Amino acid sequence: MPKSQTHVNEIAEIALARNPGEPEFLQAVYEVLESVAPVLDEHPEFLDARLLERLIEPERQIMFRVPWVDDANTVRVNRGFRVQFNSALGPYKGGLRFHSSVNLSIVKFLGFEQIFKNSLTGQAIGGGKGGSDFDPHGRSDGEVMRFCQSFMTELFRHLGEHTDVPAGDIGVGGREIGYLFGQYRRLTNRHESGVLTGKGTGWGGAEVRNEATGYGAVFFAERMLARTGSSVAGRTAIVSGSGNVATFVIEKLRQLGATAITVSDSSGYVVDEAGIDLELLRQIKEVERGRVSEYAERRPGARFVAKGNVWEVPADLAFPCATQNELLLADAQRLIANGVSLVAEGANMPVVPDAVHLFQEAGVLFAPGKAANAGGVAASSLEMSQNAARQSWTFGDSEERLRAIMCHVHDSAYEASERYGKPGDYVLGANSAGFVGVAEAMLAQGVV
Ligand code: GLU
Repeated sequence: MPKSQTHVNEIAEIALARNPGEPEFLQAVYEVLESVAPVLDEHPEFLDARLLERLIEPERQIMFRVPWVDDANTVRVNRGFRVQFNSALGPYKGGLRFHSSVNLSIVKFLGFEQIFKNSLTGQAIGGGKGGSDFDPHGRSDGEVMRFCQSFMTELFRHLGEHTDVPAGDIGVGGREIGYLFGQYRRLTNRHESGVLTGKGTGWGGAEVRNEATGYGAVFFAERMLARTGSSVAGRTAIVSGSGNVATFVIEKLRQLGATAITVSDSSGYVVDEAGIDLELLRQIKEVERGRVSEYAERRPGARFVAKGNVWEVPADLAFPCATQNELLLADAQRLIANGVSLVAEGANMPVVPDAVHLFQEAGVLFAPGKAANAGGVAASSLEMSQNAARQSWTFGDSEERLRAIMCHVHDSAYEASERYGKPGDYVLGANSAGFVGVAEAMLAQGVV
């Protein structure tokens, strides 16, 4: 066995021994490890410096109690997390997730992915992630505000525009970022715009940040298709989820002449053959904070499939935009049988490893989240630049920059897939290109 492979196997064993009971984190680590042996063959200095062993160990992890009082005057206790994974390329950067499923394994997998994603963007941002097992669904604005204030009352001491810059993720949108920023400002007596991204455009937020993850995923898909002489125009897409990423995937697909016909949430999915009506979806999801079933009740011709599996709907393109491990092997088999030609991950790690392998064997174009959903964090980096320079760029200019970054992410991943022997394997390409970027910085900065 080549020395590189023996080393990778050793690191996999270390990861397993050090992180018991963290299946999502180990899944994310193994997926990267599967890709990096050829990089180590080319760069034996990375192996000698044991960069992989350092990479899989967060620089710092913070866990804390978040006590708050609900509207009925009952004391509630949640757990807060921030995993500061790697700052070789820039301040820790990554979102906060508020969802009942959040635990250390989930935050670590997300933080680990973020290192490679952020490296791929070519922007000066390290990797981190955080969140809480608090679920904002069904909570009043006042409850969400009190929770955010309590959360920030501990977290603020670990943040800073040059230290760690959180943003949104599942359950954390503009409302939560507003409350978090307000509390940070109050505690520090600093209007430090660059400490959080995803802010309102009237107070330091950047144009296109809100749209960026979804738009970016479609730009990425479009670039993949362009390489094979095709485009999204005229095609039908199925999209899972109904939050920020799904909404803006649907919007950009429509702008480029494609039709997205599904959305979903944990209760089931909606099919609307005429194309999802975004105005109605936004009214239900963002204004009323309701469920997708209400969409079908109010939209003639749309149908809600309770507890249904969105991957059973036939389409050309699939964008999993809900959450991790939402697309299983049987779903991949069904999608392939239904003739899907491209799958792009809008969410983080939504497709299980066996399903990824199956898509690749079947010749389906597959875009891993680290590359395809990098637009969100890339736009966050543009927000940080504007905050530092006290500027604000126009929507058009910002969207053009986002498109250029997504083309760069695509081309770096594609070139790396060629260099390491599997042209068009974007998993190999994204992992290896992301790894080389951060590994070179770590090597230059010594054993820290
Ligand atoms: N949560 C997003 C992601 O998964 C965005 C992070 C950010 O903007 O910092 O990349």
